[in-house]
Amino acid sequence: MAGIYVHIPFCRRKCLYCDFYSVGERFITGDFDKLINHELLLRGNFLNDKRISTVYLGGGTPSLLPIESVGRILEGIDTLSSLNGDAEITIEVNPDDVSLELFRSYKRLGVNRISIGVQSFNQAELSFLGRRHSVESSSVAVHNAQDAGFENISIDLIYGIPGSTLQTWEHSLSVAENLNPQHLSCYHLTYEGNTPLTRRLRKGLFTALDEELSLGQFELLRSFAQSKGYLHYEVSNFAKEGFISRHNSSYWLGEEYLGLGPAAHSYNGAVRQWNPYSLERWEDGIKNNSPNIEMESLSAVSKYNELLITRLRTIWGVNTDDVSRMFGESFASFLNKSAQKYIDDGRMSRTKGNTLLISPSAYFVSDSIVENLMLIAEPD
Ligand code: SF4
Repeated sequence: MAGIYVHIPFCRRKCLYCDFYSVGERFITGDFDKLINHELLLRGNFLNDKRISTVYLGGGTPSLLPIESVGRILEGIDTLSSLNGDAEITIEVNPDDVSLELFRSYKRLGVNRISIGVQSFNQAELSFLGRRHSVESSSVAVHNAQDAGFENISIDLIYGIPGSTLQTWEHSLSVAENLNPQHLSCYHLTYEGNTPLTRRLRKGLFTALDEELSLGQFELLRSFAQSKGYLHYEVSNFAKEGFISRHNSSYWLGEEYLGLGPAAHSYNGAVRQWNPYSLERWEDGIKNNSPNIEMESLSAVSKYNELLITRLRTIWGVNTDDVSRMFGESFASFLNKSAQKYIDDGRMSRTKGNTLLISPSAYFVSDSIVENLMLIAEPD
């Protein structure tokens, strides 16, 4: 099974913390959906497994794309690939863009999962992040999605925001929970590259949230999710039973996916490809039947590192017998040896079946644990 990701790179306004590739909505043209479908035609062979079980329209802001374009993209995917009848089809939306009617239209087109970029239920925090929607519009958006018949709704939230407290975070979580979404994605605010927020931080215009408080918010999130029946299945993701994101899980489990649109990444088990971070260059390549793709053939060391980066962030962990089968005994014994100190101090565990797991209580520091288990060259 494989997935298709479509990057819809248009935003009305750039959020201050955002490092994703996007351009202004004035660049939306009637050609965009045709180009996506043409790219699928040109690059569909990249996938070894042609059965598509998930489609994800992400961005950017897919909810800015006219409904007719969304329809043509989904129709193109259905026609040009082997889309499973029970495929998970997700669209990301901004609360400001969506009405009951629009949600009904998405439903008619076969979309069956909605991901809503709420980020916070605190107006001051939304302003700090430079979000263009209000707290109220987020709640209205969730209700409208439910009224349109969606039964698989995910809400994105951000914690670790300067000025936030345990109380403001608890407030956001409880408002979210009252809306009864099936899935929560909760990310810690990060200061990426050269975003306006990062520049303001460097200039000393504000200070990042204290690490202890961030950790406190993470702990609160964990106990909150547990008490409300959400499974903490990946560092930042929580799902009610039966609502784990199939698309995102396929990334973490190393399945194949094809990324369409500017800046989209693709992976087929042996090669990683990425489209140019430029709408113009992407368009030129597709129009000339010669996609401007960059690619990297993955060495055993890169594949091993990637396996750790993705799977150790999840409840599925990394099986060392599989590592031995895939890369050789020397990789497995390096992993076992390096993981031992974390097993001894309780930050990791090993199942009877030899699966290594990071303890959920240590997810907050999972990046540094994974880093210490990675390789820079093949072990002796
Ligand atoms: S966070 Fe989303 S809406 Fe905001 S600029 Fe980034 S892609 Fe656009």
